[in-house]
Amino acid sequence: SLIIYDECINCDVCEPECPNGAISQGEDIYVIDPALCTECVGHYDLPQCVEVCPVDCITKDPQHVENQASLYEKYLTLVATQ
Ligand code: SF4
Repeated sequence: SLIIYDECINCDVCEPECPNGAISQGEDIYVIDPALCTECVGHYDLPQCVEVCPVDCITKDPQHVENQASLYEKYLTLVATQ
């Protein structure tokens, strides 16, 4: 999963770009639900939120390290339950 750090300026640019609906407005800053984030695996070559964030405050979450295969597994599970 990716994570949003507190440099976030709440610009709302990333939320509509997430193909998994994993991003939402949190209490202070925008947040990513690790259960829904596939780092855009299955959808795009690059994480779209990272691409659009104007302050580069989104990166890989050290608490939720996943490889390509496990991210793709999550993608398949999410698609199957939609
Ligand atoms: Fe925050 Fe970046 Fe998302 Fe804007 S694009 S809401 S600064 S994480």
